[in-house]
Parts: sequence; structure tokens; C-alpha cells
Amino acid sequence: MTTPQTNFIGISVSGTRARAALVNENGLVGETKVREIAPKTLIPQLAEMVQELQSSGLQVSAIGVAIPGLVNRQTDRVVAPRDFSTTIVEDLHGELTRATGLRVEIENDANAAAYGEYKVGAGRGARNLFYMMIGNGIGGAIILDGKLWTGASGFAGEVGHITIDAEGLECVCGNTGCLETVASAPSIVRRARERLNRDGTSSLSRLALNKSFTAEDVAHQANEGDDFALMMIERTGKYIGTGVASVINLLNIERIVLGGGVMDAGTLILNPIIQEVKRRAFQPCFEATEIVAAKLGLDGAPIGAAMLARDAHTV
Ligand SMILES: [Zn+2]
Repeated sequence: MTTPQTNFIGISVSGTRARAALVNENGLVGETKVREIAPKTLIPQLAEMVQELQSSGLQVSAIGVAIPGLVNRQTDRVVAPRDFSTTIVEDLHGELTRATGLRVEIENDANAAAYGEYKVGAGRGARNLFYMMIGNGIGGAIILDGKLWTGASGFAGEVGHITIDAEGLECVCGNTGCLETVASAPSIVRRARERLNRDGTSSLSRLALNKSFTAEDVAHQANEGDDFALMMIERTGKYIGTGVASVINLLNIERIVLGGGVMDAGTLILNPIIQEVKRRAFQPCFEATEIVAAKLGLDGAPIGAAMLARDAHTV
């Protein structure tokens, strides 16, 4: 007799959007729902998405939620939502448990995406890895011997706040010149804009025609062969590579997986990252490390959150 398969629901909340996926016990994604969310109605909206995914009649054992903020593992409470445009309620864990009647596990989004990549994506086969999520912010996560290593109080891996430029701009964390202030998606746009305003030759770029371009537009124009956009992407790669070199020197880690929207630029950004790491990292560490792009895209965090919910009481 075979036991019926159990399923999990993985949810990622980012900015003003939630993505919920039905994920089976092997990490395969079934039905997915994406919805705009309002801070005031976050809990009922998430509960409604859960209910809709359950309507197929499949057995759901638990919910995993990935959030753009830090989670205290001892108390399950959200201590610092990174994305201030979203009000992630402090007791998301308790409120969502009550609203759905299911077991809920919450985790930082970079940690969840790292776990997803580790289990079913670009991290498969590695024993130890470091994951970097480069999007509106920059997060990171460490997996050692198959487990997330979250540090003394749950906040390890905050690679976005490694100092890249000691004299740089002030960061949301209070430090100056963090990696996030030069390589996150909004920082790429800011740097491109500053350069366009300052340098006449860059006005040949197609980006100069679009007053409200995004980091996605910069990557798109770079792919179309726009020299200025390409230069901006390559410089961003250098900054990220500088951060990655520090991680490699510190951890001598087997694999680095790079994900998040900024990595959608593909090899245009991956190659300068690898070149910069090679230039800066301790050579034996560099040679022992594989640097790859994430594979799961937007599904990474929901899959990882679901897998963390699956494994929460078994590992
Ligand atoms: Zn910072």
C-alpha cells in the first residue's frame, strides 16, 4: 500500500505582491496564484490564496512563507521587514496559523530561495553553498551540510551589507557604501541616471529616451547591444564580484548560486562577476568554487519555503 502524497503551500511576499504555489513533497510546483496585496488585508488575502489552492482537494500539510525581512527563529516573529513598502505584520506566523488552521513556517526570502535552489535548482548536488538574491535589495544565505546556517539569532548571510565603498552612500541599514547601495536594482537605475546627467556621450544610449527606465530596461538594452547599458551592467557585475570574492575567501564554499531579478541579464552580468571574483579572491578558494546562476526564478522562494515547511520537523 502506498501512502498518499502530501503537499505544501509555499508563499513569497515581495513588495506589494504575493506568489503562492502548491508544491508536492518532491519540490514540484503545481498550481500557482499571484496577487497584488494591500498591507492592511495581508492576512485575509494570503488565507484566501491558501484556500483556493486547497480547493483542488489535495492534502496540504503545512504552509511556508518567504518574506523580505528578518525572522527570529526562536520566537517566529518578524523583526525587521526589509521592504518598507509592505507592512509584514510582526506576528505573521500566529495570525496566518489562526486564519488557515495549518502549520506555518516563516523564513527570510533569501534563505527560502537558497533552500529551494539547494533542493531542486542550481544548488543540487552541492553539500555547501552560498546563495545571493540580487533584486530590489540584496540578501544572502548559507547552507552548510544540507542545513540553512542562520547564525546566532537567525540573521546570517546579509551579504548586501558588506561594505564595498567606505566613502559611499548611506544605506538603509545605517552603514555607508554597502553592496546594496551600488548593485541592487534601484541602485543600478540611480547610477545610470547620474551618469546620463553627467556625461554627454551617454545620451546616445536608448535609455536617455526613457525617463522612467528600470533595471530591467538597462538589462534589456544591454542585450540589444547598447554600449552604455552594457557598461552599467558590467560595472554592476564588478561590484557583485567584489562581494562574492569576500564570501569565497571567508567560507571556501563549494558553490555560489546567484539569483534575483538583476541576474536576468544572464551571461552579460555573470561573466563580469566571475572575472572580478577571479581577480580578487584567494586563488585556491576561487578554483574550488563553482559560480552559477539560479535556476528557479520567481518560483525559488515559494518552493524553498514549502520545502522548509516539509523539513521543519524532520531535520
Ligand atoms: Zn547596508
